[in-house]
Amino acid sequence: MNALAGTSRNFRLASRLLGLDSKLEKSLLIPFREIKVECTIPKDDGTLVSYVGFRIQHDNARGPMKGGIRYHPEVDPDEVNALAQLMTWKTAVANIPYGGAKGGIGCSPRDLSKSELERLTRVFTQKIHDLIGIHTDVPAPDMGTNAQTMAWILDEYSKFHGHSPAVVTGKPIDLGGSLGREAATGRGVVYATEALLAEYWKAVKGLTFIIQGFGNVGSWVARLIHERGGKVIAVSDVTGAVKNQNGIDIPQLLKHKETTGSLTGFSGGDSLDPSELLVHECDVLVPCALGGVLNRENAAHVKAKFIIEAANHPTDPEADEILSKKGVIILPDIYANAGGVTVSYFEWVQNIQGFMWDEDKVNKELKRYMTQAFHNIKTMCQTHHCNLRMGAFTLGVNRVARATLLRGWEA
Ligand code: GLU
Repeated sequence: MNALAGTSRNFRLASRLLGLDSKLEKSLLIPFREIKVECTIPKDDGTLVSYVGFRIQHDNARGPMKGGIRYHPEVDPDEVNALAQLMTWKTAVANIPYGGAKGGIGCSPRDLSKSELERLTRVFTQKIHDLIGIHTDVPAPDMGTNAQTMAWILDEYSKFHGHSPAVVTGKPIDLGGSLGREAATGRGVVYATEALLAEYWKAVKGLTFIIQGFGNVGSWVARLIHERGGKVIAVSDVTGAVKNQNGIDIPQLLKHKETTGSLTGFSGGDSLDPSELLVHECDVLVPCALGGVLNRENAAHVKAKFIIEAANHPTDPEADEILSKKGVIILPDIYANAGGVTVSYFEWVQNIQGFMWDEDKVNKELKRYMTQAFHNIKTMCQTHHCNLRMGAFTLGVNRVARATLLRGWEA
């Protein structure tokens, strides 16, 4: 099932549990605005190359639309649509005053030079600058983009609208970024995991973890799990996978990746087939990369007791059903990875206030939001007799539906 069909299916299931009116259901599903732009840039050798960029603004009932911009070859309108919709429910689950959006450019950022990436980002910003804004739509980093990308967007946007640091989040600290934003998604994943494990009288310390994806999110999850005494027994990224049953020395692995750019050749573990990693024996599996990695082909073989969805939609609906029947507890993406957008909210607040928080305050507030959201989800699970995914969806959808109804329909 494609990403959009899977996401919309979860939304409809939640809508039925909540007993929403069918007209309201339809209006919540259709995106507010879909933007598709052509971005042509000269490559470093002077030849022209064209890319297609998207910004899908899904819903703004609860506040400005919010979500990342992804640079990846698999970016297509359906995928961006699904991710924009997930942002609407995610910001509502986190209870931050935003709607949802997502953007992307279908490109392979690894194959572009820094100056080509800068040109591409500036052209994309020129095409969408009048449709984003501090109180309309606030982009942020996602896969293939980072603080530098946000700095270019801010600079290009400011040429049209004057200096407006709050128009993007995930910026470099020197340009108004927040302390703790870089680690926030991974840190939020760990706070969410701790909240879940506490329900089962368990803690991170002593449990075994497998982490799929070692980019910004996966590497921070690994580092923080390791710091708390959790045993990270296997890790993978696009370059390969490494395992060590006694626990990988994560600071050493981070050093190895920094110097070689790859996970392969690490002396502190054995190599492993990346597809084997997802079905390897462990307590907690944390997918931190692309969507759809858990599907009907591999779900029956998964041995983890808990799955923490640090990635967006890593579990296909078919896999969801198989895993639920097996009794695997899944902490859903729209809650588990909400730490990034939550600290983006703190960054936006700091920019608007013109007052910078220290890192301790950022992390304390992040923990408070993540813990509160977990308890709100549990309440929905009890009310609607449902699993954690439906608990999170009913929580998010209900908050957006209430805001929409309060605004009313009069033209
Ligand atoms: N790209 C991140 C996400 O998918 C963060 C979005 C944001 O900070 O606006 O949640």
